[in-house]
Amino acid sequence: MEEEQLENVLRNYKTRTHHVVVPEDGVNSSTNKEEVCGICLAKYENKESIGKLWCEHEYHECCIKEWLLRKQDCPICRASASPFTSAN
Ligand SMILES: [Zn+2]
Ligand SMILES: [Zn+2]
Repeated sequence: MEEEQLENVLRNYKTRTHHVVVPEDGVNSSTNKEEVCGICLAKYENKESIGKLWCEHEYHECCIKEWLLRKQDCPICRASASPFTSAN
């Protein structure tokens, strides 16, 4: 792949670290919604790197990076992954 293309892709999402919230009493799990990656459909594990597109959809950082190298849109809502490139 070309470096320039990769840099473009990396500008199209923000990253965060996922933290699994564990309730102190261990029984109130119903309030804990499980978040899954829309690409590989696996649950986010604690301290995994999450990439968030401008349309607010989140995926594993490694998953969305690979996806964006092939398609420049959101896997869920099909929004363009680079909507306002002239902003900066
Ligand atoms: Zn994933
Ligand atoms: Zn989306």
